[in-house]
Amino acid sequence: MTDIQPVVAPVWEPSGGMPALKITNVKAICTAPDGIRLVVVKVETSEPGLYGLGCATFTQRPLAVVTAVEEYLKPFLLGRDPNDIEDIYQSAYVSSYWRSGPVLNNALSGVDMALWDIKGKRAGMPVYQLLGGKSRVAASLYAHASGASLEELEDEVRRFLDQGYRYVRCQIAVPGYSTYGSRIAPRQQPSNQTLGLGTAPWEPTPYCRLVVKMFDHLRSRLGDEVELLHDIHERIPPIQAIGLAKELERYHLFFLEDPLAPEDNEYFRILRQQTSTPIAMGELYVNQQEYVPLIRDRLIDFIRVHLSDIGGLSMGLKLAHFCEFFGVRTAWHGPGDVSPVGHAANLQLDLACHNFGVQEQHVFGEAAREVFPGTPEIRDGYLWSNEKPGLGVDINEDLAAKYPFPEHPLNGAWPPVRRLDGTVIRP
Ligand code: MG
Repeated sequence: MTDIQPVVAPVWEPSGGMPALKITNVKAICTAPDGIRLVVVKVETSEPGLYGLGCATFTQRPLAVVTAVEEYLKPFLLGRDPNDIEDIYQSAYVSSYWRSGPVLNNALSGVDMALWDIKGKRAGMPVYQLLGGKSRVAASLYAHASGASLEELEDEVRRFLDQGYRYVRCQIAVPGYSTYGSRIAPRQQPSNQTLGLGTAPWEPTPYCRLVVKMFDHLRSRLGDEVELLHDIHERIPPIQAIGLAKELERYHLFFLEDPLAPEDNEYFRILRQQTSTPIAMGELYVNQQEYVPLIRDRLIDFIRVHLSDIGGLSMGLKLAHFCEFFGVRTAWHGPGDVSPVGHAANLQLDLACHNFGVQEQHVFGEAAREVFPGTPEIRDGYLWSNEKPGLGVDINEDLAAKYPFPEHPLNGAWPPVRRLDGTVIRP
């Protein structure tokens, strides 16, 4: 009988014997230089002056993310080698046992992007170089145009075209209603004030009628060259979204965004069979089970997730490559509640991934650009890398502290949006 030898696990020698580098601090920085609540994670290392930044902005619940970072990820990460991005991601992901969701994903994203930033700084290269290098010179942007009337909207689109933009998202105010992405037209008193609900109401049918008129107006006056986009923002019932997508087919949209809510994912199968209007989807997704089937079954054309809400740059990179195999292009969510660090992370993928589609732009104010030196530059309708190592964006912490989160009765949460009868709907 032979003795059974105990199994000996190999000694964990991360990073192939490179000089030991350790994470010495992890902290969440809260700031609102443009009035929007931003959370950025700073990962500090044992090498003096070497640190990384990552976006962890979940603007409706930022303090929950701060707790996840400082109370849970920090003790988990102190002493780890920041080179081991993938292992840190995987081990931190399962360290809560119950996982996924916007709070934990944003916390992970803050760390994940910061580790890529550190790796880029160590390599002396922008992060896109570590992802395979440039596939394009700069990232095409789409601008947001809106108006209280068709004429006002048309003027705004023309202003963007004059500045060199080729892609414009168009939203129009539905008179009397609280319209997403546009101003409220003043000529009609919100009707549910009479019910004492306090906010302007929303009804799907007047909106659907007006959006068709809007595209008819814009296409007939602007011609076929400009790429037009529109965001439904999941506000209408699925069958109305399908009807609208069919009606808009003749106006050749670049994409129609968020026609359905994540809860109605199965409707994408029906939508796809009804229309060739290109579909963009995803800013509300947090779990791969929500988006993988849509990509695998070729039910959408653009993936539009918010990088920090799916866990960061590492997950975004995997997702982009997965999409490439199914003809799905990227259009990462890029509003003002993605910090300049997050926009820089979007840009690394925009530059490196072959299947880039378009990038949503946000023009940061002067205060935000001062707090975040190196914020990617917008020129001629494109987003440009500043070619600095890492993500290329820094933070002035003293200045950031001068812009605390603004006072708000709901602490930054979405106020309810209601129908005329008071029924709450998706925002
Ligand atoms: Mg959107």
